[in-house]
Amino acid sequence: MRLSRYFLPVLKETPSEAQIVSHRYMLRAGMIKQNAAGIYSWLPLGFRVLRKLENIVHEEQIRAGHIPMLMPTLQSADLWRESGRYDAFGDEMLRITDRQGRDLIYGPTNEEMVTDIFRSHVGSYKDLPLTLYHIQWKFRDEMRPRFGVMRGREFFMKDGYTFDLTKEDALHAYNRHLVSYLRTYERMGLQAIPMRADSGAMGGDNTHEFLVLAETGESEVFYDSAVTDLRFGDREIDYNSHKDCAAIMEEFTSKYARTDETHDAALFDAVPEERRRVARGIEVGQIFYFGTKYSEAMGATVQGPDGKVTPVHMGSHGIGVSRLLGAIIEASHDDRGIIWPEGVTPFHCGIINLKQGDTQADAACDALYDSLTALGLDPLYDDRDERAGGKFATMDLIGLPWRITVGPRGLKNGMVELTSRRTGESEEMEPAQAVEKIAQIYKGLTVRGI
Ligand code: ATP
Ligand code: MG
Repeated sequence: MRLSRYFLPVLKETPSEAQIVSHRYMLRAGMIKQNAAGIYSWLPLGFRVLRKLENIVHEEQIRAGHIPMLMPTLQSADLWRESGRYDAFGDEMLRITDRQGRDLIYGPTNEEMVTDIFRSHVGSYKDLPLTLYHIQWKFRDEMRPRFGVMRGREFFMKDGYTFDLTKEDALHAYNRHLVSYLRTYERMGLQAIPMRADSGAMGGDNTHEFLVLAETGESEVFYDSAVTDLRFGDREIDYNSHKDCAAIMEEFTSKYARTDETHDAALFDAVPEERRRVARGIEVGQIFYFGTKYSEAMGATVQGPDGKVTPVHMGSHGIGVSRLLGAIIEASHDDRGIIWPEGVTPFHCGIINLKQGDTQADAACDALYDSLTALGLDPLYDDRDERAGGKFATMDLIGLPWRITVGPRGLKNGMVELTSRRTGESEEMEPAQAVEKIAQIYKGLTVRGI
């Protein structure tokens, strides 16, 4: 993309309404624009990152054997009356009446709708296990929408639903989700720690939340610092193996890590003192096993191999895709702007032309742009006729992890400069070498933008 032809409405001033750094940078970098409290337009740069996160979530869900689909944002209120949640959900639920006087809601989550789909089409254990998921906009009329996309009213969420014949199978589905989530967050350059949590309005008692440690997080968390040393890494895992998934669950959840809702002071005291941590975290996902709560209420049953008909065991599993943008920025920035992890960056590298209009510099930038593009990479070329300082400030603010700087002085010796946004270190090299190095860095990180 050439910046002169892009839409990147960068703000010079720091918006006064933004209290936390991710919100400030998302507004300043022209990623989002507020439409109403907690409701945002995703401007092109923000949309690129959102799509990348969505694609990573899809890839990891499909890898785990889960099946993508799409349910609507508007739902019939009748389904929610069946489960009893039409009243229980309270003011967070946006209720709408259509011209025929029928009650609809803008979905805050989809347990009821997916249970209805299941009961309409599945009746035998032979169709199990089944995991259906979608990534769709949700609406919750939050009391205090704030912090930009972190606590929006309209937000983008992956929600997956598991259906199993037995509790044992359902707990395997739960473990499988934990593994797939660990992989997902690590690919985004994030550490999200599974913590034992409270199930709230969802019901059930097996639930973990995934928290990204950050001072601006809304949850208070208590943990053994040893959990922060755990990494999933690039292990191969057989998602069908109950044993393998249970072992990962055990590895990642046996050390003390809880949110304030389930914190147990006596258990925490058993952690060696030097490893006890009290901090804040951002909830970026949650997994639940809730048994037969919805299937019983809504008559979603299956016939087992013994001919007996029983309610299906269910779980639901969510990732806050739009909130993740804020969480990643909270975890990765400096005083000049965002620093995107390579796995989610909106463009793979920036190209800065120090002397726009100089024949040689223009030709070198064009050649770099073409070579990178031919390799399937997305460069952002700042080809505007602006002074260098302004170009650097914009690049730093929008946070592309790598930058190639091209100017007449370097080109005299056939050199350009490759700079890391994270370390600030620069290296002079030939343009072909810079392209090669960028290609190496992104090898294996195949998620395409838009
Ligand atoms: P919270 O406790 O933050 O209100 P929740 O526990 O009610 O969230 P879940 O029902 O678990 O939310 O939804 C799954 C994920 O969706 C959450 O882990 C979170 O990342 C994201 N999410 C929930 N509410 C919002 C919101 N208002 N804005 C942005 N993301 C949200
Ligand atoms: Mg939650």
